[in-house]
Parts: sequence; C-alpha cells; structure tokens
Amino acid sequence: MRRFLFLILVSAFVAGISARGQEPPPANATTASTATATDVTPAINVNDPAAATRAWLETVPADKRARSNAYFEGGYWLLLWNVLLALAISLLVLTTRISARLRDFAERMTKIRSLQVVLYALPYLLIIALVTSPLNIYEHYFREHAYGLATQSFGPWFREQMIALVLQLIFTPIALVILYAAFRLAPRTWWMWGTAIAAGFLLVATMFSVYIEPLFNTYKPLKDPAISEPILAMARANQIPVKQVFEVDASRQSNRVSANVAGFLGTTRIALNDNLLKQCTLPEIREVMAHEMGHYILNHGAKLVIYFSLFFLVGFAVARVSFDAIVRRWGERWGVRGIADPAGLPLVSAILTAVMFLLTPVINSTIRVTEREADAFGINCSREPDGMAKVALKLGSYRKLDPGPVEEFIFFDHPSGRARIRMAMDWKAAHLPAGGSATSEPAH
Ligand SMILES: [Zn+2]
Repeated sequence: MRRFLFLILVSAFVAGISARGQEPPPANATTASTATATDVTPAINVNDPAAATRAWLETVPADKRARSNAYFEGGYWLLLWNVLLALAISLLVLTTRISARLRDFAERMTKIRSLQVVLYALPYLLIIALVTSPLNIYEHYFREHAYGLATQSFGPWFREQMIALVLQLIFTPIALVILYAAFRLAPRTWWMWGTAIAAGFLLVATMFSVYIEPLFNTYKPLKDPAISEPILAMARANQIPVKQVFEVDASRQSNRVSANVAGFLGTTRIALNDNLLKQCTLPEIREVMAHEMGHYILNHGAKLVIYFSLFFLVGFAVARVSFDAIVRRWGERWGVRGIADPAGLPLVSAILTAVMFLLTPVINSTIRVTEREADAFGINCSREPDGMAKVALKLGSYRKLDPGPVEEFIFFDHPSGRARIRMAMDWKAAHLPAGGSATSEPAH
C-alpha cells in the first residue's frame, strides 16, 4: 500500500520526519528489561569525550543492545523486500494486462480523460493495498508488537490503516489527474512538469499534515506549567511565535517518545507526546524540544521539500529516458500506448521506486544531515548534554546505537546514538570542563 506511489510515500515521509520534525520510537520504559538502563548517569571523565561516550554506551545491557540491533537491521531487509514486492506487483499487472484492462474499463465508462485516470487509479490502488497487506501487517503490526514498541490491539490499528487508505484513495487520484494532464499536454517535457507537480504535492502534504494528524490522535493544551514554561521560554528566546504547548496522546499507538513543532504562518504549534512526558526528565524534555525548535528555526520543512524535488528530478529524468524505451519493446504486449496512457502507471511507478531505492544512501544522508543540524541547535539552545545522551540512549531501543560508518551512511536517517552522545560529550568538554562545575549536571 505505502510503496505504491512514491509521491505518497515520500510525502508522508517528509511530512513525518521534517516538517513535524518528529522523533522516532525509543525506549519501551514500561517493560522490565528496558526500564532502568537509560536512567543511569555513568561516572565519566568530562575532559575525555571519547571515553565518556563509551561510558554512556556501556550503560546499555548486552541483551537490550542485541534486541535493538536486531530490530534495526531487520529494517534493512524490509526496505529491500518492500521494493522487490512493489516491483513484482508492477511487473505482474503489466504482463498479465490487468493494467490495460483497468484502462479499457475506465475508457468504456467515460470519455472524460481526467475521469478515466480516477477510474483507473481507484481499483489499481485497492489491488496494491490488498497484495501488500500481508507484508504491511507483519511489518507495522506484528513486528512492532514483537519488539514491544506498539501498544495498540489489532482492531484499532486496522481501523487507522483504513482511515489512511481512504485518505490515499482521495488524494492520490487528485495528484494523478494533475500528473496525467501534464503527461498529455507536454509529450516531450512531461518529466519536468512531473517533477514540479510532485514537489508541489509534497509541499501541500507537508502543510496539511497539521490537519490530517487529528484524525489519528488528540491534541490538547499541556496543563503543567513546570513543563510548559521552560519550553515556552526557549521558544521566546528563539522568537518562535507560540503561546501554548500541546500534548498528543501518542501512547494510543506506541511507546515512542516524540515531539514536534508544526504549523504554517499563524498556526504554529509545539506538541510533545505523552510518552515523552512519562519517560523523560525535564532536562531530556528540554533537549528534545530544543531539537524540534531547531527544525523550525532552520526551516527544515521547506529545505527538505527542495532537496526532495531534486530527487524527484533524478527519478523523472530516468523515467524520461527509460519509459519510452521499455514501451517500444514491450508496450504492445502489455497494452501500454505511451506516457499519457494510465495503463503505464505501474511502469512509471516501478521506475521511480527503483531510482528512489538506489538513492537510499543519498536520501538518508540528506535527512541525517538536517537532523544533525537540529541536534547542534538543540544542544546549544538547551545546554543539556546529559539530557541529550539519555534521550539518545532511549532512542536506541529501536535504532542501532553503534553502527559502522558505511552502515550509518546508507541506512541512518538520524544520527546514531553514538554520534549524538559524542556531540553532547564534545559540547560538555568544551563548555563544562572538569574542575569547573559539577561533572554530571550542566549549569544554566
Ligand atoms: Zn529531528
């Protein structure tokens, strides 16, 4: 389902990661084996950041480390399986002429070209959703539960999947109608228009994510001034125009600690989730919120839309070169006439999916670099190196803490726990050297 139209995938991706600046899932503090490890502050030599980083990492028990490594490394394979499944489905609907038959059906129903695109897209999207559902259910339901990251039973989880599917069935056809209008009107430059339309769609998705989120979670003002005031003070210090801090009931779905600064023009909103409030101390909360404010201040939402537009451009350029060549060779057998024919959608989708897959290290590194910027902003704004180290360890319950450099380059869309703790310890050594103030608590 999510693999089909990479537009949707990437929209959700960027909307989730950058604009909302959401932090992914960390520690399951409610299960016994993970409860205490990340709350330990090790005795460290502040003046030796490398040793201090190792000391923090060593507070994580071996069994817990093995579990998070297994979870995260499993994700490498899931990336591959998802892409192979998407490519296999595309090939199957082309070679069996299911795609051509859906197009014929749409043409029999109406003469209006845009409506034909919609009538093609709806059953096509449903087929994709159905065929990918076993992998989707395994990856996002059973696997999350197996690793203790999810809190939702199957009924409510499935209901949310259905809401997401309905949204997809509304918005994807709209995007495709616009895309295919460009494909018809610009037979030579369609790939440039496609890039522009994809970028525009991504921008709209980023902006509207604030209105989509309440379909899944409840946002309400945070009552406790002991938490909200220190956060609002950081917001004021950085001229972020907010008057309230919101709490979101993320524990409905998972144990993940998360927070975000979202909104557009007058609707700017700071929200932190109830897991963050339950699992973290104030220094940790301040550090996470300062990171999120970094996303806002550094305009990461807008910047990532621009970066992703470049990836779209690469994808559509490859599609421009390969689509016609493939259709010349197999078009007749598959019943695909050309780029303006909706029956070619699985081919366009397969090409873009393959390009995005090959760009994985570039895409992940692009996002990781912006996350690192937010980290640097966060530590300088919050001045909480130990809080940063503790949060990095909490995030390490699902993300490999200490990967190799190549592994981090290819697969990490956030800095690893080791990299984040090292940044915190370098900061601490520079600002709070031993012999100055206390070794484990930063001064404000
Ligand atoms: Zn972030």
